[in-house]
Parts: sequence; C-alpha cells; structure tokens
Amino acid sequence: MKNKLIGILVVGTLAIGLTACSDSSEKAGSSVEKQDDSEVNTPAEQIDKSADSTKGDKDVEKENQDPTITALVNKQNSVGEIYEPTDLVKLDVPTVLENPEVNQLRKVAADALKAMFEDAKKSDIYLYARSGYRSYQTQNQLFNSYVENHGKEAAARFSAEPGQSEHQTGLAMDVTSESVNFQLDESFGETTEGVWLREHGHEYGFIIRYPQDKEDITGYIYEPWHIRYLGVELATKVYESGLTYEEYLEQEGNEYEGV
Ligand SMILES: [Zn+2]
Repeated sequence: MKNKLIGILVVGTLAIGLTACSDSSEKAGSSVEKQDDSEVNTPAEQIDKSADSTKGDKDVEKENQDPTITALVNKQNSVGEIYEPTDLVKLDVPTVLENPEVNQLRKVAADALKAMFEDAKKSDIYLYARSGYRSYQTQNQLFNSYVENHGKEAAARFSAEPGQSEHQTGLAMDVTSESVNFQLDESFGETTEGVWLREHGHEYGFIIRYPQDKEDITGYIYEPWHIRYLGVELATKVYESGLTYEEYLEQEGNEYEGV
C-alpha cells in the first residue's frame, strides 16, 4: 500500500503565526507566538518518494529512512490538505480529551508512546496524552472558529493554519500531567514529568520539537509538551546535537529530500 505524504505548494507568504498545539478545548493561554517574518519559502515538494511503506513496525532503521516519518513540517513545509495517515491507531495510554480523533497516532508512534509512558511509570512519572492526530478538516474548523471569535490576526497567533500542523502527520503528541492540571502550559517543562520527557523522549524516538528560545528558528514558542516521533536513531541524533530539527537537517545538508 502506498502511503503518500504530499507536500502542497505553499503559495505566497504565510505571514501567520501558529502553534502546533491548540486544540478544541482550550485557548491560547500563554501560547502566543511572535510573528516571524523570516523569508519564505521553499515550496514543499512531494516528500514521500518511497513507493513502498511496507516496513515492519519495529524496524527502526527503515523507519528512519521513511520520509513520511522524518518529514519536516513547519511554516515553510506544509503537509497539505490531502495527506491523511493510513495507519492511525487508537492510543493505549492514559488520555485527557474525549475526542476520539486526537487520541490516535500512527501505529509506530503509538507503540513508542506506550512503551515510553510505561517506562516512565516505573519511575513514578505519570504521563498523559492530550492531543495527537488532528485531520486537516479538524484543524481548519478549529482555526476558523478562532478567527470568528478573535479575528484572524489574533487567532493566527495561537492556532495553526490548516495543513501546517505537525499533528496532521499523526506523529506529534501533546503530553501533559496532573501536576499542570492536564493542560498545555509552559510550566510543564519544569515539572518532574516534563524534565523526564525532555531527557528520555529520544530513547523512544521522540524529540521536544519546539525547545526554549528557539522560536526564531522553529516558528513556535517553547512547547515542552509537544513531542514529535522520528524513530529512535534519528531522535537520538537530534537530541544529542542539541539542535532543533530544522537546524539538524540543515547541518546534515538536507539529506532528506523535499524538506
Ligand atoms: Zn502539539
């Protein structure tokens, strides 16, 4: 089965601030992002050039070579309206929201998340999944509702333009804990749960995608709750580099085509 992740041409300047994480039950809170006027835009290209995605679920090497796993998604690299993961599964971890859609991830990421949460629990770290997969349509409705209520300029500061959210890949999860009342709050990064996630996420294939003081590079404020699955090998490399994923890819000479 082909699993196409198609990058849609990003037309013009998307002079819209966005965060990846706003979900249907909360407002911006502290999640207000600076406008980023950095240059636009390498058009996103078709980023899945692999016709076969018949990889084994546990084959980390192959996962890391799968562009649908490693694809960079940000303001300059849209997932596009068409993309919908074909292997979403229901999460088997503690969750926060009722919405069944967001309690899904691609299978490889869902399995990794479960392993991570279970290992965390052994250290008395109790993690909760708040928001995972969001379809283009969900993000579109969400963004439009914020536009109606707050105006586009304000909405754009705390909600992602549809097609621009990493959550649409089915590889991103917003993690929270009881200590922050199951919300997405910057203070999560200083909790024992947030520290554990930051220090151990890569062991399961996840990186903290929007580190502190990197919004000029990532386009996003510090989001200690937002993790992105890349596979253990790549996530470990990114973690050990101390770089954002954007910086890491640039350093590696853009070895991943189309990003
Ligand atoms: Zn998020």
